[in-house]
Amino acid sequence: MPIEFDRHVQEASFHSPLEEFEAVTVETEVRRDPLTDRNARVVSDHFLMAEDPDIEAVVTDDEGCYFCPDSVDETTPTYPDWVGMDRGHVGEATSFPNLNPYGKHSNVVALTEDHYVPIDEFTAGIFEDGLVAALEYVRRAMDHDADAEFGSVNMNFLRSAGSSIIHPHVQTLVDGEGTNEQRLQAGAARAFYEQEDEAYWPALVDEERDGERYVGATGDVEWVAPFAPKHHRHLVGVVDDPGLPDDDALADLAAGIENALAHYGDVGLNSFNFALHLTEDDPATPPVFHLVARSVFDEYYWSDATFFTSLHDEGVVDVAPETYAAEARAFF
Ligand SMILES: [Zn+2]
Repeated sequence: MPIEFDRHVQEASFHSPLEEFEAVTVETEVRRDPLTDRNARVVSDHFLMAEDPDIEAVVTDDEGCYFCPDSVDETTPTYPDWVGMDRGHVGEATSFPNLNPYGKHSNVVALTEDHYVPIDEFTAGIFEDGLVAALEYVRRAMDHDADAEFGSVNMNFLRSAGSSIIHPHVQTLVDGEGTNEQRLQAGAARAFYEQEDEAYWPALVDEERDGERYVGATGDVEWVAPFAPKHHRHLVGVVDDPGLPDDDALADLAAGIENALAHYGDVGLNSFNFALHLTEDDPATPPVFHLVARSVFDEYYWSDATFFTSLHDEGVVDVAPETYAAEARAFF
């Protein structure tokens, strides 16, 4: 079962009002993800880019913010006894239970003391401390609960990415279910491992290294633009060892996040989602980090979660991974 990159082009024909109603043909490239078999469509002119978004008033209003340093100790929950701490503290990062949990073990890590950080001012140190704080909780949850084999560390940044709170924060989820995407990827990676006697993700990195979708390495983490992106400017960071990442791996990951966000900021993006997939002890699935850009947050921003995203789970992008990988590479 070698890694296959299947793609084909579909052509749509019509008489275009942009060409005085001459007959035109527009191409859509349909790609199949080598691991999950999920489609991505590379289309033309899909993503709306806001220019000079006017968000200053929204992002600087910290009135009533639960995560600001002067209120976090009063307004956020404390852990149950088995966690062994009231809240976690690593550098500026503060971790605490999620007041609105998504499952059995669900926490929040407020990343910074600053209420707002522009996308191109996030540093590796911010993410390193935040990820160390998140993993401290993930480890304790997995140690405490033998059924909790799936973990993830996730981030929505700004409202157009789904965050109701401006203050930068990540959220973990640890349980025995995983999400649909985790189960899909872990199941497919398990099948690959059993057939090929090697893990899919390192094999993918080997296949892509020196190719047009390879972005770079930050320490022991390697970054690629996936062949069939799930969303805009999707980047994937693969940690070299299976199991939960240690502090060195988290520092390497954080360095790459800084680089990737600098690239997003450079092309005018200000909003993103990420998910770090974790399994407690599965040689078929090392820690894998997924990062995507979201609609530019502006006063009247456009949602890029169309029916393709919310109902069809179909990736639709207008910049091919080979194109944005080359742009991102300059920041690694
Ligand atoms: Zn705040």
